Amino acid sequence: MTDEAVKVIDVKERTWTDSIGSILVGIAIALIAGLFIYFGKFIIPPHLVKTFTFIMYIGVAVGIGIAAVATFQATRVEKKEPNIPVTCPYCDGTSLFFGYPTTDFVCDVCSRTVHFQDGQMIPVRRIVCQACKTEHRVPMNLNRYVCDRCNRPLRLSADLTQKVAAASNALNEAMMHNYDVLLISYDRRHETATAMKIQNIMTVNLPDARKILQSASEQAPIPIAWGEPLRKAEALRRQFEELGATVSVKPSADGTPMSTSGR
Ligand SMILES: [Zn+2]
Ligand SMILES: [Zn+2]
Repeated sequence: MTDEAVKVIDVKERTWTDSIGSILVGIAIALIAGLFIYFGKFIIPPHLVKTFTFIMYIGVAVGIGIAAVATFQATRVEKKEPNIPVTCPYCDGTSLFFGYPTTDFVCDVCSRTVHFQDGQMIPVRRIVCQACKTEHRVPMNLNRYVCDRCNRPLRLSADLTQKVAAASNALNEAMMHNYDVLLISYDRRHETATAMKIQNIMTVNLPDARKILQSASEQAPIPIAWGEPLRKAEALRRQFEELGATVSVKPSADGTPMSTSGR
C-alpha cells in the first residue's frame, strides 16, 4: 500500500533523524573550509593564496547551504498540512495522521493498538468486569478478554448489547481452586540447588531436603507445596523445571476454594 496513512509523529521523527545528519555534515564542511581560510596563508604558496581562499569561501557557502536546506526541510514537515486527527476508541486521545489510517496503528497517547478490518476501524464496546466492576473498552470482534485489573479472563457474548462480562468458566474455575505441586524427579547435576529450593519452600534443613529429593519418583511423587493458587503453583513448577526437575501441578484433593489472601 503506497498511500497508507502515516503518523505525523513518525514522519517528524524520521525527518529529524535524516535532517540532523545532513545539518551536521553541512556544518562540518563549513567549519573545515573556514579553518583553511584562516590557516591557508601559512601553508599555501603566496601566489595561490587568493584562489585557495576563494575556493574555501565557496566551501563555507556550500556547507551552510546544506545545513540550511536540511533545516528547512525538517521545519516544512513540522508545518505540513493537513494533519488528520484520529480519535483513539480506548482513551479518546488524538493521534495525528497524514491521510486517514486504514490499518492497525498504535495510539500515541495510550500505546494500545487500534484495530482495523477491511479498512474500517473496529468499533469498541464498553464491558464491565463482573468480578471487579472495572469498565473496559473492547473491540467488537473479540470474544475473550482478560481484565487487566483483576486478571480474570472474561467471556464476551456475541450479543453486542452485553454490558457485564462474567468471568470465563473453565479458566475461572482453574483460578478459584488450590493446587498441589508434586516433585517426580530431579536432575542430579542440580541436586544442591534443587534441595536448597525445597529447603526454602518446605522450611526443612538441607539434609532433609536432600532426602525428600532422593525419595521422589514417578510412583511416589513428593508433594512440595500444598493448596497454592494456580499462579503460585505454576511459578513453582517453572522454578523447578529450570533446574531440570520434573514436577506436576494437580488440583488439591479436597478441592478447597482458594483463600483470598495475597490478592
Ligand atoms: Zn489511546
Ligand atoms: Zn476485573
